[in-house]
Amino acid sequence: MPAVPTALAAHERVDGHADARQSVLPRPVIASYTRRIVDPPRLKFRLFDRALYQAILGLQAPWQVEQVELRMEPGEVEVWVAAVTETPFGCPECAAPSPIHDHIERRWRHLDTCQFRTVLCARVPRVHCATHGVRTTRVPWAEPGSRFTLLFERLAIAWLREATPTAVARRLGLTWDEARGIMARAVRRGLARRQPAVVPHLGIDEKSFLKRHQCVSVVVDLDAARILHVADDRQAVSLAPFFEGLSEAQRTGITAVAMDMWEPYRQTLRVHVSEADRKIVFDKFHVMQHVLTAVDTVRKQEHRALAAAGKSPLTRTK
Ligand SMILES: [Zn+2]
Repeated sequence: MPAVPTALAAHERVDGHADARQSVLPRPVIASYTRRIVDPPRLKFRLFDRALYQAILGLQAPWQVEQVELRMEPGEVEVWVAAVTETPFGCPECAAPSPIHDHIERRWRHLDTCQFRTVLCARVPRVHCATHGVRTTRVPWAEPGSRFTLLFERLAIAWLREATPTAVARRLGLTWDEARGIMARAVRRGLARRQPAVVPHLGIDEKSFLKRHQCVSVVVDLDAARILHVADDRQAVSLAPFFEGLSEAQRTGITAVAMDMWEPYRQTLRVHVSEADRKIVFDKFHVMQHVLTAVDTVRKQEHRALAAAGKSPLTRTK
């Protein structure tokens, strides 16, 4: 019998006591402690690890945890998962059941286990589909092409809502490109979830970036304050794909479009939206800019005419 730690020995004594009501711990806990002392400790520990990670990863059949390795040197936990099934895998393109061609080793960064970076590893089956040829099957915990699990990406996105990509990348140990990739996939997922709805009030605006050297056109839903479309440049063709992607009901459902007085935007609207001129709402800033320019032009003309006729009371009135 191996030496028993003092705390466990105390529990054992309590467990064996004639009156269980005096026990300081509930019975199931005591039972699990005493069993662990009797069983070979190494095997028990491994089984516990696998069950723990199976539960916290939320793995569903046919995937199960095969092995958990704690690597002290890099400070990393490697969780190896494998698909155990007799049923053939489906082709990721057409879902046709297909024979396994081979396996390919993949690794995904997962949420840390305490202070240890945790990596999910699997030999992912590649199937041979009669129509599409050799294809890597999809795994339920990550998107194709991502080196992070969805749970990790969700954590990164939560942080990206609070801080800049540079700060998040630094704190989570990501490269700039990895942080950008996580953002891009989140946007794609969000757009895929978006239901086509009628947006009555649109806003079209230009935004400059890269020290004002480049412009993008942005279409927003003014009621929900959300971006619907971003296009390179601010030409008429920039916005065409947005309007072409709308259904007939969505196009006729547009009742007002706020924009600045930029002719290419107006042209696009006239092509794609019926009675466009009636629906365009110019923003106050641009209207006032034009009003003030017109007032100034008239003032100059009056001043010149009055000065030519003798004396202008408009001298120094600019
Ligand atoms: Zn296929």
